[in-house]
Amino acid sequence: MLLRPDMAQEVVMLGTGNAFLPYGRYHSFAMIDGKHVIDCPPTALASFRRTGVTVSDIETIFITHVHGDHVFGFPFFLLERQYISDRALSKPLTVVAAPGVQERLRQLCQLAYPGSLDAIFSTIQWREEIEGELECGMTWRRFAVHHDESVDPYGYHFNPGKEGSFVHSGDSGPCEALYREMGQSSMTILEMGLPEWVESDHHHKPSDVEKIAASLPGVQLVITHTFIDTPQVGRTPTVTDVYPTHPPNVHHAEDELRLVRDGSVWSLTS
Ligand SMILES: [Zn+2]
Repeated sequence: MLLRPDMAQEVVMLGTGNAFLPYGRYHSFAMIDGKHVIDCPPTALASFRRTGVTVSDIETIFITHVHGDHVFGFPFFLLERQYISDRALSKPLTVVAAPGVQERLRQLCQLAYPGSLDAIFSTIQWREEIEGELECGMTWRRFAVHHDESVDPYGYHFNPGKEGSFVHSGDSGPCEALYREMGQSSMTILEMGLPEWVESDHHHKPSDVEKIAASLPGVQLVITHTFIDTPQVGRTPTVTDVYPTHPPNVHHAEDELRLVRDGSVWSLTS
């Protein structure tokens, strides 16, 4: 019997920007062990090409919610596989998502390329369970977060209960359910979509990140879905290109940041 690696070893931040694409960033997008991705943003193909990922090597997409900056790359993802990297439609693709997402993505594909994606769409294995396990042994738990209710928002806890487990917040403002999961993880990819002056609690702001970092000092926080340009791009800032002074357990990610796990510690490389 083959030994199954049941723990994720590496996460690559394929994109780290919010919906407005701050300078130097593609939309927030993360890849686990070179074969699973979280969401499928409009810039997904650009991220794959830049990082040198073969699109058909992706086996699983975890969907957090159906806002455009998280799923509008899905028709292009299928188009690329069907016509370029998997013309025989022989590579397996699983989509892990809440009930209802399948129909939304079907409509999206139908709108983008009427009829053309039917063949590949029919090969997708849909997994709607809240908790599950992939063939490679990686497990997930999906939990509701605080965001726009009309897009059914969730975060994911990967390998919960195991050493080195990690959380992806999806899009969420301050949320007790999210903080509970984070408290049981060693690392969390946390969105920080808004500056202080925007009146909304649907995303984290720098002051929220500061608070949660202080209350969970043993959890490494990696910031994504940011409103802040990559520093030193040298253009007039989209909103700002200055990072807040974060607590020591917070790291503001840049595109292509690589997180490598050793036990329960995730180290950052680029
Ligand atoms: Zn959203």
